[in-house]
Amino acid sequence: MSTTVKAYAATAPDAPLVPTTIERRDVGAHDVRIDIKFAGICHSDIHTARSEWGPTNYPVVVGHEIAGVVAEVGSDVTKYAVGDRVGVGCMVGSCGECEYCLAGTEQFCVKGNIQTYAGIDKDGTPTHGGYSQAVVVNEDFVLGIPDGLDLDVAAPLLCAGITVYSPLHHWNAGPGKKVAVVGLGGLGHMAVKIAHALGAEVTVLSQSLKKQEDGLRLGADHYFATSDPSTFETLANSFDLIVNTVSAVVDLDAYLSLLRVDGTLVNVGAPEKPLSLHAFSLLMARRSFAGSPIGGIAETQQMLDFCAEHGLGAEIEVISADRINEAYERVLASDVRYRFVIDVSTL
Ligand code: NAP
Ligand code: ZN
Repeated sequence: MSTTVKAYAATAPDAPLVPTTIERRDVGAHDVRIDIKFAGICHSDIHTARSEWGPTNYPVVVGHEIAGVVAEVGSDVTKYAVGDRVGVGCMVGSCGECEYCLAGTEQFCVKGNIQTYAGIDKDGTPTHGGYSQAVVVNEDFVLGIPDGLDLDVAAPLLCAGITVYSPLHHWNAGPGKKVAVVGLGGLGHMAVKIAHALGAEVTVLSQSLKKQEDGLRLGADHYFATSDPSTFETLANSFDLIVNTVSAVVDLDAYLSLLRVDGTLVNVGAPEKPLSLHAFSLLMARRSFAGSPIGGIAETQQMLDFCAEHGLGAEIEVISADRINEAYERVLASDVRYRFVIDVSTL
């Protein structure tokens, strides 16, 4: 016996998302059923809904920035109780046995973690994400949302927040470090807030100066337009770390030239097409080019606690479910300030 819940699904690469219903499994011994209140719209939802990363198995309900309230717990659940405010991010399972899972870095599970949507669950059924009324998840992949964060502004932290927190942490963004954030969208605006809270000197590199006032208010010390070629001369050899959040292909050589000796450009943006670079952009200043996917469950909880402590919710525009397709178009036009969040009660 499963439960039928309302949802919004993608059915083909070029079709708008439509209302539908999906089945959620009964709560198992280690499961938690969550009544979803808010679901953020990540650019990855769009890449997936449109089969931009390879063919998607349709229909799919996307959404991996889930915030809600525990409605039911299984008999062996110890971490959560009915009524708790909780979140779910990009993963709902992993092998639990490999060196990376044992180290709490489930994002690197050698068998591949189970993605919240467009994945295959342990029971062989396709996974469906947060654009839905409820979800059933093993308690080990459920995060506690601290009291200091409202559910709507917390939802985007479950992907956008952890995806930038993890590399900022890994590459030691902090006092004395100069960090640039490329692209001021969902990930980018959280990168600015978190890097600033970690004590780094933060520069936004955006396509235009349209969002300059916002960028500085969010915590950036400097703001430059990448459409202005002089930006790349002014800022040459200046950053310790650059976090590239752009969803499209960019000129990596131009951004690498902004790194100091031993600096790192970490790509969190996941464009549809391959990126390329010249070896000289790296070797002349012993620079590194890296990538980083989300973060582990323990680190995600650490990020939520850090954000609550520093008052770092996402900047959001709450929308009703019937505006999801319009929101997708606005994200694609870089017209998002800075995350759309679906009010799931409107499903
Ligand atoms: P988003 O809200 O659309 O932000 C991307 C920003 O990039 C835009 O706001 C825009 O900022 C800039 N941009 C867009 N198109 C551009 C272009 N053609 N040239 C230069 N700049 C451009 O997207 P998001 O939700 O933050 O996600 C960003 C990317 O990260 C996506 O590819 C997503 O799939 C990926 N992602 C990766 C992970 C991971 O685990 N690594 C996790 C989540 C998301 P400006 O207007 O300021 O220029
Ligand atoms: Zn995401």
